[in-house]
Amino acid sequence: MADPSSNPGSGLRVLKFGGTSLADPDRVRAVAAIVSARAATGPTVMVVSALGGVTDDLIAAGQSAEQSDPEYVSRLQAMRARHLKAAADLAASGVDERIGALFDELDDLLRGVSLVKECTARTWDQILSFGERLSATLVAAALRAAGTPAEACDARDLIVTDDNFGRAWVDVDASRGRVSERLGQSDTLQVVTGFIAATPEGDTTTLGRGGSDHTATLVGSILGAEAVEIWTDVDGVMSADPRIVPEAFSIPSLGYDELMELSHWGADVMHPAAVHTARDHHVPLVIRNTLNPEFPGTSVVARPSDSSGYPVRGIASIDDVALLRLEGDGMQGVPGIAQRLFGALAQERISVILITQASSERSICFAIEPVDLDQAVRVIQGEFALERGAGLVDDVVVEERRSVIAAVGEGMRETPGLAGRVFGVLGHSRVNIRAIAQGSSELNISMVVAQEDCERALRAVHRAFFRPHGRTVQLFVAGVGRVGAEFLDQVAAQRADLSERGLELRLVGVARSAVAVLEEEGVDLDGWRDALAEGSGALRDMVDMALESDHPSRLFVDATASQDVVEWYEPLLREGVAVISANKLAFSGPAERFESLREMGERGRGVLFETTVGAGLPVLRTIQDLVSTGDTIHRIEGVLSGTLGFICDRLMAGEAFSAALAEADRRGFTEPDPREDLGGRDVARKLVILGRVAGLPIELDDVDVERLLPEAGWVTGTLDEFWVGLPEVDADFAARRDRAVEDGAALCYLASIEDGRASVRLASVPTDHPCAGLASSDNLVAITTHRYAETPLVVQGPGAGPEVTAAGVFADVLRALAESR
Ligand code: ASP
Ligand code: MG
Repeated sequence: MADPSSNPGSGLRVLKFGGTSLADPDRVRAVAAIVSARAATGPTVMVVSALGGVTDDLIAAGQSAEQSDPEYVSRLQAMRARHLKAAADLAASGVDERIGALFDELDDLLRGVSLVKECTARTWDQILSFGERLSATLVAAALRAAGTPAEACDARDLIVTDDNFGRAWVDVDASRGRVSERLGQSDTLQVVTGFIAATPEGDTTTLGRGGSDHTATLVGSILGAEAVEIWTDVDGVMSADPRIVPEAFSIPSLGYDELMELSHWGADVMHPAAVHTARDHHVPLVIRNTLNPEFPGTSVVARPSDSSGYPVRGIASIDDVALLRLEGDGMQGVPGIAQRLFGALAQERISVILITQASSERSICFAIEPVDLDQAVRVIQGEFALERGAGLVDDVVVEERRSVIAAVGEGMRETPGLAGRVFGVLGHSRVNIRAIAQGSSELNISMVVAQEDCERALRAVHRAFFRPHGRTVQLFVAGVGRVGAEFLDQVAAQRADLSERGLELRLVGVARSAVAVLEEEGVDLDGWRDALAEGSGALRDMVDMALESDHPSRLFVDATASQDVVEWYEPLLREGVAVISANKLAFSGPAERFESLREMGERGRGVLFETTVGAGLPVLRTIQDLVSTGDTIHRIEGVLSGTLGFICDRLMAGEAFSAALAEADRRGFTEPDPREDLGGRDVARKLVILGRVAGLPIELDDVDVERLLPEAGWVTGTLDEFWVGLPEVDADFAARRDRAVEDGAALCYLASIEDGRASVRLASVPTDHPCAGLASSDNLVAITTHRYAETPLVVQGPGAGPEVTAAGVFADVLRALAESR
């Protein structure tokens, strides 16, 4: 909001309506409704432009008259008819005479011009003044007809300027008294002519094309208005040209400087001097839409609210510029080249749109309007004729049909990496940047591109900056066994929910052992099975794609148990790809590698592996939290194998060992070869990971693993031989069970770490031990720490099964994204 001291709560609003808002009687009626409603609630001043197109008509008529072309007469007649018809349509009674008188006066003026065949700047301003004088007369009458007392007010009585006709300079101090006196005290709504003013001597002047905006902000500033509303026919200032960028939206709040940058750059919104005046006097501006009066529009204030969270406010563009380059060996370190170059251009009144010069000083590159091109080249060749002759400066190089794209926003100053983002997306869209300019104000990054690339570039840059309505993440999934497949199905099921939260997990690569499907636009989450059936790539291709993609958010999920996949973790992490793994191999391998992976993860996108222990149970996270909050871990004990837990459970219930294992296998609790579970090595790996997360740098070989099966041929033979031989151990296990029962104890496959020692064994534990009597395939981890000393912290629940494991992977994925936000 404006500084309240400069706006003494007048409650006054200035409403300015441009020509398009007054283009026809229907529009004028809509405008009258808006103004009447406003005037009923508080003090209001209205400023109007000429009816749409009238200023242009006046220019055309003046030019005809200047050439003594009688065409000006018919133009004048058409204009007269248009205004009279509008008055009739609007039931604006009593103004016909006034309109007639104005046209008679104009007629005289133009006749004079056509006689002397000359129109001075002074006369031009007189001619142009009729547009606004007519519209104010008409609109005031229309308001009265609609029941709102109103009168036309000629700004030549209010605003004092110098005699720079055509673009007169306003004397705010000289205008102050007149404005306050005339507008500050009137009870009747004043309809002020925009655009026109007068010298102290009373000569008519104008403020430059589009100058009605300036009239409005001047009046608003002098009167200390609470706001100046600029009514146009668009929903405020758009984030980009909506004809080119369909996602463009109306910017709710802008800074004055940002608005200036945007208006400079083709987003033709407001007269620059108008914005200056509002800024200097702390008068908030609101840009609103006559065709959509309910819409709040864009408010322009000193400190715009940052609710959007975007560092960039808008992307402006100039469709057609010419890019010129002056270069030569004789330019290096020679002072005055730039001054001569731009001085020569200035002398010809050629305005320069953008300038860049590299620190080598070997070349200066700048953009101008195409209409100025020939003249500019001539001027420069002339200016540097001597140097060119001596070979010190080359001929000017011209590139035509170029466009400028400019990202504008105060927030760019505080946000590193924006230029990188722009260049990234443009590179990705295969747009070549011809020149770049960014001042140290960092309010504007401008890029020159080929005209044919302009629209594509504009859309790409807009998308890059205003994506937050949706964040897309590239997902690469290795392994579609039980866990991987279930994970993808869960992601598919959550799709709508995620997208509501602005997140799209886009499956761009999915691979199993020898096949991969890669699809930048995304593999259908419901159709990946079919796609894989026809897939042709390999894991390696998917890894390459993940490594080479320049997408800002990439996730690699390892749902395999393969050593080949594990080898890629480091390269992936190095390239900024987050790794989510359910694969124990990397984390239970050499301790040194574990540490380096963790470190890479901490520095970059993260490596998460919660599901390597206890499936979806939050085991590692819990230990991690304890450690990082300063607790000391004394002992970790638990049942880490759902398979072995299930078997122990069955065993205790009286079942034979071989039957229990067969049942576990049937339910999918075991590895494809159940000997891997029985060997205890899988549990040992989990224990190693647990221990490392707890801060114990143990190696797999350090774990004391008790063999469960005897050394026999059938144990090491084929899988079939194994199943055939297995019942041989039933009697032994039955005996151990009976012994345990006699002792009032229970058998469980216990993993433990205590005093730096790790062991895995079939243990007989008292029935009140947390691990005794665990239900079927549950896992349990009991953590005894300095803080959890009396009773351990226990995490318990299903520790196997595709559903919970996949959910754990999914949770890791979301956590990785949350961390990299
Ligand atoms: N009628 C003038 C023009 O067309 C001033 C304005 O509309 O702001 O430039
Ligand atoms: Mg305008």
